[in-house]
Amino acid sequence: MKVLAINAGSSSLKFQMYEMPEEKVLISGLFERIGINNSGYTLKVNGEKIKKEVVLNNHEDAVEYLIKELLENNIVASLDEIEALGHRVVHGGDKYADSVVITDEVLQDVEKFYPLAPLHNPANVLGIKAFQKSVPNAVVVGVFDTAFHQTMEERDFLYGVPYEWYTDYKVRKYGFHGTSHKFLANRMMEILNKKDAKIITCHLGNGGSISAVKNGKCIDTSMGFTPNAGIIMGTRSGDIDVTIIPYIMSQTGKTLDEVIDDLNKKSGFLGICGISSDSRDVEDGMKDNNLRCILTHKMFVKSVVNYIASYYVALGGADAICFSAGIGENSVTVRKDIIEALNALGIKIDEASNNTRGKEALITSEESAVPCYIIPTDEELMIARDAFNLAK
Ligand code: ADP
Repeated sequence: MKVLAINAGSSSLKFQMYEMPEEKVLISGLFERIGINNSGYTLKVNGEKIKKEVVLNNHEDAVEYLIKELLENNIVASLDEIEALGHRVVHGGDKYADSVVITDEVLQDVEKFYPLAPLHNPANVLGIKAFQKSVPNAVVVGVFDTAFHQTMEERDFLYGVPYEWYTDYKVRKYGFHGTSHKFLANRMMEILNKKDAKIITCHLGNGGSISAVKNGKCIDTSMGFTPNAGIIMGTRSGDIDVTIIPYIMSQTGKTLDEVIDDLNKKSGFLGICGISSDSRDVEDGMKDNNLRCILTHKMFVKSVVNYIASYYVALGGADAICFSAGIGENSVTVRKDIIEALNALGIKIDEASNNTRGKEALITSEESAVPCYIIPTDEELMIARDAFNLAK
């Protein structure tokens, strides 16, 4: 069965087509700058990379080019061969604990959750609708970023605020990157050959979050009501004392929206080091002895270590810790410093194995009390698997 996994952002559309159940990638690509100038797309097909500049006024234009490429590259002979579409949907509120076939009711729910994910859910819906016209016969499945975290208990997902904020306005911790955390936990359980394993999964990308997983179920996660909570990220602050917000408004004359924008887009690595949101630039700065870059790195490591330590206690120990996403898979320095800071837990790095990028690897020594791994994440594959299972 041919299954298309889709991740639509407000100005981008990422896709990967699989032959299932073999999980073979047939073609993948990214449409960028949709609705902006200089739009275009890149494709990976038959081991070849193709880059084209085309006008993409909206998501429908991107879908049209995508279909044209599928036909021209003989990935499908007709669109009827695409039997399932899996769409990433960021927010499923507290209603969706699993992937579902998207009906009108589900679509209305996703729209109802707009206030909870104003940047993401509208873009996801644009993506869903863009395919409806062109590929009307496929089973359409929604895979929610929040779903995996729905197993958290009230004690772990509530904030210490008036209870009515939860009952009346749904204020609670939702958690994000769930598709990645689920992939990582499943892969760790496979490697450990242990279904009741206690695992700490670290998704460290431009956005980052950490989850505690027991028996394959999430018991806690670092992101919260929005993806701005938790660890320090590329441009997001992570956890802060909310009272900073009115204080900065009064001191600078900024509006609430401006301060929230600062916390989402001008904080984190970018805010602290003042140069870049990219961890590679921060690491280059460290090599040049840039003190703010060194500080950024130290603060990032500390924020990750705090969550790992707290989840180690919450889980009653850990069978494994894994690192994933751009930074987790690639930064030898970040992993090394996190693991060394966990020394009190008896965790010991194997420096030679840690000198690995983008590949699955055990990176701690034999005497380490908890094994740590690099596990490259694959959210697209998870989306394709769920779409395949629901379509079949
Ligand atoms: P997202 O999907 O959230 O946009 P990614 O998972 O692609 O983010 O991660 C982006 C981050 O990964 C950036 O900070 C980038 O610097 C970092 N990264 C990617 N490759 C490397 C590398 N080789 N060494 C260090 N950091 C890297």
